[in-house]
Amino acid sequence: MLQRSVPVGAPHWAAAWVILLQAVAVTAQNPLYPGVQPFVAVDAPVIAMEHVRVIDGTGAALREDQTIVIAQGKIRDVGPASQIHIVAGAKRLDLSNHTVIPGLVGMHEHLFYPSGAGIAIYTEHAFSFPRLYLASGVTTARTAGTIEAQTDLNIKNLIDQGTMPGPKLLITAGYLEGPAMFTPQMTEVDTPEDARRFVEYWAARGAHSFKAYMNISRAALGAAIQAAHERRLTVTGHLCSVTFREAAALGIDNLEHGLIEDTDFISDKKPDVCPQNQAQTFRELDIASEPVRETIRTLVAHKVAITSTLAVFERNPIIQARFFDVLSPGTALNYMTMRARGPAPTSELSADIHKEIQFERAFVKAGGLLVAGADPTGNGSALAGYADQRNIEILVEGGFTPLEAIRIATLNGAEQLGLAATIGSVAKGKQADLVVIDGNPMTRIVDVEKVQMVFKDGVGFNSAKLVESVRGHVGLH
Ligand SMILES: [Zn+2]
Repeated sequence: MLQRSVPVGAPHWAAAWVILLQAVAVTAQNPLYPGVQPFVAVDAPVIAMEHVRVIDGTGAALREDQTIVIAQGKIRDVGPASQIHIVAGAKRLDLSNHTVIPGLVGMHEHLFYPSGAGIAIYTEHAFSFPRLYLASGVTTARTAGTIEAQTDLNIKNLIDQGTMPGPKLLITAGYLEGPAMFTPQMTEVDTPEDARRFVEYWAARGAHSFKAYMNISRAALGAAIQAAHERRLTVTGHLCSVTFREAAALGIDNLEHGLIEDTDFISDKKPDVCPQNQAQTFRELDIASEPVRETIRTLVAHKVAITSTLAVFERNPIIQARFFDVLSPGTALNYMTMRARGPAPTSELSADIHKEIQFERAFVKAGGLLVAGADPTGNGSALAGYADQRNIEILVEGGFTPLEAIRIATLNGAEQLGLAATIGSVAKGKQADLVVIDGNPMTRIVDVEKVQMVFKDGVGFNSAKLVESVRGHVGLH
């Protein structure tokens, strides 16, 4: 477009002015750049989504035949189609037989993925993952740990500037890890001073939060929490050396994965040491027992949120065509080789996952805040975005209602981030972060995978085009 509008042979200054003026015009009307524009399905000053089913994310019942009006990036109005006034000139979308849910608030997202071939090295996926998250309905993503903090921070800025598609990112620096880390991509912080310096450095660079890992000491974790809280930032952890109750007492804000990673119940647990027998202890644990209830009470009393990451615990899920479509050929080969040597694919949830959901239901019942995220690590089965959808399905398979599961994946995350006033539910005045689903997750929860469009701040993105653009890239970058 730019080339066509400048006559061939025009002096450079003329070309420069035309480009500059066009850039100003584009920015003034529409902050979208050429890197994002091809994925935009709808962008208009006023958009009316008519005759759509709404699941608003609060847990309230589904409402049929609603109209949502979007203007200036926000939800200007929402209510029964017969009662909502639509201004002349609005872009009207007939969304009969479609469902709108809030944009997902992914709380355990990463911009990295296992490199494969059995070594604990992860590859930054700065290109494909932001697109996959957005395509899958994730409009806000807390990264919950990174192996390239500066890359993540820069990617966040590129997305915020509108130069590449992706969700709104909140970058969690870390990992804060002790000795004996399992991948050399983490940072060893052995003393409280190390932990404080780490937090101070990345806070100054723009980190939103911090992630502690499995071998950190109580002293280092405590210092990290204190340094983060002094800056009004938060700390989450995938812990082992420090138990959940210890971490709650130290003031941690959030714990990842759930009881499946808690070491409170190891009888011979040594302070600051990650025990080896955690998996077996969890298998033998009775969720209804008093010690577990005591841990739940402690977490609720200290307002420690739990992040549910059930999809990453599926070691041999049924392989979907859409999963293969986005893998690079080499990654697909590695993945299939690994899977061929393991157990047969199954849609059955493992006993561990069932037990973890039992805990999560008890935690919610006791007043705990449960949030959810993809965690695209493990053996590579959980992908950015796809695993966020799968989590919602597993929560429902495990006994949460569809309305509860959607709330866990949306409004609860917003609450934990302190952003519930502006995102997380379909409500008048909130940002227009919305997922348009070609189906009805109330009657068929797997319909959460049938994402057609994703609105971020009122701009509607074409999900299929975003996915198509990363075909064959996952595993590479
Ligand atoms: Zn993770």
